[in-house]
Amino acid sequence: MQSGAGYCAAPAYELYLKGELLQASSAYLALADADPENPRPMMNAAACLKQAGRYYDAARIMVKALERDPQNPDIYSELGWLRFHQADYEGARSAFEIALKIQILHSRAELGLASVYSNLDEKEKTLAHLEKYRQLRPDFSGVDYILAWNYMNFKMHKEAEEALVEALRKDPSFTEARLPLAGIYARQGKFNEAWNQYYRVLDYAPGHPVASKMMKVLEGKLTKQPEEIRPPFRITKPLVMEPLDALASLSSSVKIRVGIGTGNTGKQGRNNLLRIKSFEGLTVTGKASGKVYATIPPDETWTVTHEGDKVALTAPDGTVFGRFAGAVLVKPVKTGGSVIFDATSKTKNPWFSGADRQYRGYIELFPNGGRGVGVVNVIENELYLLGVVPSEVAPQWPYESLKAQAVIARTQVLIRRARGGQHKKDGYHLCDGQHCQAYKGKSNEANTTTNAVVETEGEILTYHGRPAYTFYHSNCGGWVQASKEVTGWGDSPYLVTKPDIAPDKRQEPLDPWDWHLWITGNPQSNCNYPGRVRASEYRWMKIIRQKDMTFRINMDYKIGELVEIIPLRRSPSGNVNTLKLVGRKKSVTVTKEHLIRNLLGFSSLKSTLFEIEINRFKNGKVRNYWLYGGGWGHAIGMCQSGAAGLAGKYDMPYKGILDFYFPGTSLRTIKYVKKVK
Ligand SMILES: [Zn+2]
Ligand SMILES: [Zn+2]
Repeated sequence: MQSGAGYCAAPAYELYLKGELLQASSAYLALADADPENPRPMMNAAACLKQAGRYYDAARIMVKALERDPQNPDIYSELGWLRFHQADYEGARSAFEIALKIQILHSRAELGLASVYSNLDEKEKTLAHLEKYRQLRPDFSGVDYILAWNYMNFKMHKEAEEALVEALRKDPSFTEARLPLAGIYARQGKFNEAWNQYYRVLDYAPGHPVASKMMKVLEGKLTKQPEEIRPPFRITKPLVMEPLDALASLSSSVKIRVGIGTGNTGKQGRNNLLRIKSFEGLTVTGKASGKVYATIPPDETWTVTHEGDKVALTAPDGTVFGRFAGAVLVKPVKTGGSVIFDATSKTKNPWFSGADRQYRGYIELFPNGGRGVGVVNVIENELYLLGVVPSEVAPQWPYESLKAQAVIARTQVLIRRARGGQHKKDGYHLCDGQHCQAYKGKSNEANTTTNAVVETEGEILTYHGRPAYTFYHSNCGGWVQASKEVTGWGDSPYLVTKPDIAPDKRQEPLDPWDWHLWITGNPQSNCNYPGRVRASEYRWMKIIRQKDMTFRINMDYKIGELVEIIPLRRSPSGNVNTLKLVGRKKSVTVTKEHLIRNLLGFSSLKSTLFEIEINRFKNGKVRNYWLYGGGWGHAIGMCQSGAAGLAGKYDMPYKGILDFYFPGTSLRTIKYVKKVK
């Protein structure tokens, strides 16, 4: 933390982290009195007051800070925003203009001025300032989003469409941009395109109420079949991989059970109907009896349905081969063969309708109550990892980061396999989604990731001789957080908080003001890695309307109209660990990581690393919420983008990467039984 000259800010900073925001601001103001030249404690006090929702007081203190530091464009810019969000547009304009006089290239002030002119209905000036903002933050999808937002206000639909397409090119997961684009298509009568956009919203936000409703509305207006609008991915020939020799040298490893086609919570989707085939031929065997019930010739597609409490198997000519009350095993007749699920729109589980799916090992099918046919892939651990690593990271990433991923994914499997874990009741060790680790099967494999698995065969990360909890996430936003800071994540000594920056650099935790500049800016870090990592995974923004936010929160908590959102407790990384939601009827406090992410808007936030600004009308009523965020995922353990950065920017070997994110752990190789030829 920056302590400035001659005062100690630690107690004030601790109060801020704890969410005692008014006390923190008083403590900073006391420091300001004790050190009359120093503007810094005032900026920190104002940052605390803003977070507590006291915009008027925060602005007043920023004006005082200017007496101590009159040439600081960031103070003017922030003063402009505090006024803007209170609907004081003239006051905001003058502050932003001074900021830009002091510093010609100031992205926050440009965005601020554009927002002011937008509210004053001055089209030309709005667009001119947004264009300058775009030049300053070219990779930031938030720019195009705000541009589109304004184009729509000015009824410039063609331009709005282009800006939304651009925002989605930079960030395909940008649900808030996809919905208005779908709306524009629907108004133009492009129903197929609109339907496709709503469909894609559901990829990132399953069960999204607006998208689900609109898809139903549009169904009758489509001029093409859904499969034509969005053709499924097809597997038409056997995959030939270069490192086949390397694979042959892999030992036979422990078998694991993976639930296939699972959703957000790791539970299986509804498999009313499935179609199976192979290139090599399959056998269908009773799990308990060991009896071979059927052989399926190569390239023939058989149907599996759920009838009552049985699984029925039907040949292409319509012959029902059997109705099974217990589990049956579908096995390739040759070693190295695979089972393919042929994509079909007749199934209710999107996993099996959008693409053909191919699996090594074998498949176990069983009656699974309301979920239809249960599908478990029984596969050797090392072969499973061939499908996991390229599902979790990009195969084009620097090679040493792929090896680091292979080691921590392998470690996760062993822990879950040993403990039984959350999926014990489901009949598998791991699900195939983000809930455990992403696994898209054989069709997703790539040469680089396969080599990374083979080269690290059997290697796991241990702490005091036991497998370590090797959590990982996509992008930390520049600072990883310790597990003990997050409710329900335990306290592992190697899951620490630290800046995700070059290992030879040092950085103290950021005080409230510096953190504000950091989250709204584009700071250097391992996971800020243009060309390899999407900029939208490192820094993002959203504007959510009051109506939508209130509706979403009331789905879970009946608090009435939302009046205020106050982040309370934060990790030193800035991740929000306690969030207070103030409604007309009552207030609630949320502490679970996934709840904080899921509650704010219809599609979940990428992370809990965000600053929130509340935008109000002149009469004090909330208009909308502006969120400036960073990172993707829980920010505990290894930052995948940061690992790519360490390997790519600093040539760090995978052992160094693992040591960076899991200090104090060590590598150990498990001995599998060698293959008998
Ligand atoms: Zn899971
Ligand atoms: Zn990171």
